[in-house]
Amino acid sequence: MIQSLNSIPAFDIKQQYTAIQEEISAAVLEVLASGGYIGGPAVAGLEQQLAAYIGVNECIACNSGTDALYLALRAYGIGVGDEVITTPFTFIATSEVISAVGAKPVFVDIDTTTFNLDLQQVGAAITPQTKAIIPVHLFGQPVNMTELMNIATTHNLVVIEDCAQSTGATWGENRVGSIGHVGCFSFYPTKNLGGCGDGGAITTNNAEIAAKVRMLKNHGQSNRYHYAEIGVNSRLDAIQGAILQIKLRYLDTWNQQRQAIAFRYAEFLSQLPHIITPQELPGGKGVWNQYTIRVLPEKRDGIREELKARGVNTMVYYPHPLHLQPVYQNLGYQPGQLPVAEATCDRVLSLPMFPELSPEQQQQVIYSLKDCLV
Ligand SMILES: *Cc1c(COP(=O)(O)O)cnc(C)c1O
Repeated sequence: MIQSLNSIPAFDIKQQYTAIQEEISAAVLEVLASGGYIGGPAVAGLEQQLAAYIGVNECIACNSGTDALYLALRAYGIGVGDEVITTPFTFIATSEVISAVGAKPVFVDIDTTTFNLDLQQVGAAITPQTKAIIPVHLFGQPVNMTELMNIATTHNLVVIEDCAQSTGATWGENRVGSIGHVGCFSFYPTKNLGGCGDGGAITTNNAEIAAKVRMLKNHGQSNRYHYAEIGVNSRLDAIQGAILQIKLRYLDTWNQQRQAIAFRYAEFLSQLPHIITPQELPGGKGVWNQYTIRVLPEKRDGIREELKARGVNTMVYYPHPLHLQPVYQNLGYQPGQLPVAEATCDRVLSLPMFPELSPEQQQQVIYSLKDCLV
């Protein structure tokens, strides 16, 4: 006990495994004994259950969240000459896939409260070349999808939701991934629905797009050994399908635990000086993949070190905005052009957040942070 009080990880995926170890072992052994290691009933079962959970007709499992985004863009035929609007404050995968299909990422600044795309600024970024918007429900907080879908409908744009950090989050009555044209999920182990390896999925109500994704993820094969398009190999392992089916049954409980932890953080931290706690939009219910506060930029790295000395591990998601990354130099963005995203990168600090974080551990995080601020 003393030991766990002494060092608190930023996330802990081993505890979750330990709690359901027997169920997972049984399911994995069953797959191993079956001799079917890719696709098959374990993956089909996951697809059905996830479609029902998200509230869509179609779910296609694939090899990663990155592939899910790539396949969605490909299925809509987005490529050379097209522009896709997204946020500069996200993991590189979101924009990487836009470049990978040959399209141009157009970065729009984030808003000051949610870390998500500033929808007021999206309209000004739309050109005749714009084909799609990729909103990211960052840290598990849903984007205002009502407003975003209004913009998209007006301009006839495809909306590809990046739900990699937000499985189970809701906007109004609907889960994210069921509101845009397609939802893209990641089951990377540290995501709130995480497997024991890479994995991803695409959700949609569009049967034609679903069929296209199924074809593209399997080498572009239309009929057996007939190839209609250049595709990729992005099949999900049966072992991951079996593990994720089990984990999906616990997801709501885990998400509720994250919500309770976020509530406690907000309660204690919002009283502290020079700290901005994350806010939820009315209508949105997040799943707190991360709990990210903002502190004074000149203090951030110092606070982080001091917390570490007290056994509290934190993360910085993300230290640099994508529009200023060397890889996007060719796009010509200048420092100062997307000021909110740039300032946010200097201020963010993600505190320990995982369903099993105990009240005692959370106290230690809060008291340590208080001490660092005086
Ligand atoms: C993790 C992540 C991805 C990519 O998912 P992988 O499964 O790691 O390929 C995409 N977008 C966001 C916002 C992510 O956090």
